[in-house]
Amino acid sequence: MDQHDSKTTALKTIAEGQSGKQDVIKQLADRSSSDGGTFGQLLNNPFFTAGFGLAALGAAARYGTLGLRRGGELLRRRMLVDLEITRHDESYSWVLNWMTAHYQQQLAPVPGRKDVGMIEYMVRKLTPGLHHLQMKTAVSKTASGSEQTAFSLVPGHGKHVLRYRNAFILVNRERVGKSFDVNGQPFETISLTTLYSFRNIFEDIFREAHEMALQSTEGKTVIYTSRNMSWEQSGQPKRRRPFDSVVLEEGLSDKILGDVREFLDARTWYLDRGIPYRRGYLLHGPPGTGKTSFVQALAGRLDFNIAMLSLSQRGLTDDLLNHLLLNIPPRTIVLLEDADAAFSNRKQRDADGYSGANVTYSGLLNALDGVASAEERIIFMTTNHIDRLDDALIRPGRVDMTVHLGNATEWQMEQLWDRFYAQQDQDGDGKRRFMEKARGFGLVDNVSTAALQGLFLYSKEEPEGAIAMVDQLAASMQAQ
Ligand code: ADP
Repeated sequence: MDQHDSKTTALKTIAEGQSGKQDVIKQLADRSSSDGGTFGQLLNNPFFTAGFGLAALGAAARYGTLGLRRGGELLRRRMLVDLEITRHDESYSWVLNWMTAHYQQQLAPVPGRKDVGMIEYMVRKLTPGLHHLQMKTAVSKTASGSEQTAFSLVPGHGKHVLRYRNAFILVNRERVGKSFDVNGQPFETISLTTLYSFRNIFEDIFREAHEMALQSTEGKTVIYTSRNMSWEQSGQPKRRRPFDSVVLEEGLSDKILGDVREFLDARTWYLDRGIPYRRGYLLHGPPGTGKTSFVQALAGRLDFNIAMLSLSQRGLTDDLLNHLLLNIPPRTIVLLEDADAAFSNRKQRDADGYSGANVTYSGLLNALDGVASAEERIIFMTTNHIDRLDDALIRPGRVDMTVHLGNATEWQMEQLWDRFYAQQDQDGDGKRRFMEKARGFGLVDNVSTAALQGLFLYSKEEPEGAIAMVDQLAASMQAQ
């Protein structure tokens, strides 16, 4: 075989080899198609490739959003700062009120400034503000028994944006779950979010909110009444009642004030000896002799608040009374009115018209003897019927001081006269004539200070009018 022939044979062999391989592929394809034709067919199937593509895209999107979310959270954690306040914290209502006040201030035009800059203009326009507000209504009773209502608007639930100094703050007020606390109030939180670099403004906001809250009660007495299971502020804080506006028998007001002050100064004395740090007072006497008013004036003088409760109140049980006396707000005098209601039997109670009361005598004693706290507890009890009380009440720790407030004495009548007419009756001639007439009609020690005040109020500016009406007051007393 020459060289040329051998080359041709070699090429032929290779060509044969190639065709052999193609045969193998062909055979494989044939076999796979005869097996059901999975892989090749799938690859050729446009639906499969499209579905596969979609699934891949979906997975990518999912991982993408997850990544973005994680990234966002990380960024948020690094760049933002949150502060959460729950409804049960005292600052909750301060912050709500502060927000309302701050907003009103922020939206008010700046006096003397017309040139609102571009950025400020945009900020004012874009800041969403308090678009959802909530009404807060406070109903209170005046001394005369009429109702007073005060309304205020506070930010409602949802998101609000506030601008404070240079910082934007996202405020989110929301309910937590569907649960309610023992007082039927829903659990709520407010969260404030701002840039991490502005985190110091929170301290300033709280300081301002606290000062605002203090200002609203400065020089005022907060009255608490029981609502559901706890003490709740009743209406707006009231202007303090001047201490000398309640005229008791000579020296009596100062005697009680002195006793309370001595007690307040003796805190460590009590605690060192393990004696419960509490003091009880019983004011008794006919209606309209200043029992309730005196406690209000005393609270004003001592810069205390008052928690008022009537023992003849409908629905007041022993447990509730006990719970309330264990949870008295700080710096608050408790005023328990109608103390005799706990001692009267059910028949008597029904006859007097208050049938729903169900505090018992032992319930009252238990509540008074309850676990002592380190805080002072001052309780003033009042009654128009001391004869219905049991001696067991007059014991140290329950009642330490019993004071009788009676009808107006000569001294009280003169004092009240002066409080009304000192200006118009500078030489005292009107007072002399008034007292003479009052003695003649037997008013001394027989008329209540409330009735006397009513007479003077009737002719506020005219002492002569009051003198002329003494006989009418006497007649109305006899008619009773
Ligand atoms: P009480 O609790 O003894 O029934 P209140 O304190 O409710 O009497 O008094 C009823 C009204 O009469 C109040 O408006 C109060 O100002 C007035 N009043 C009663 N006693 C006095 C008093 N001693 N001095 C000044 N005002 C009095």
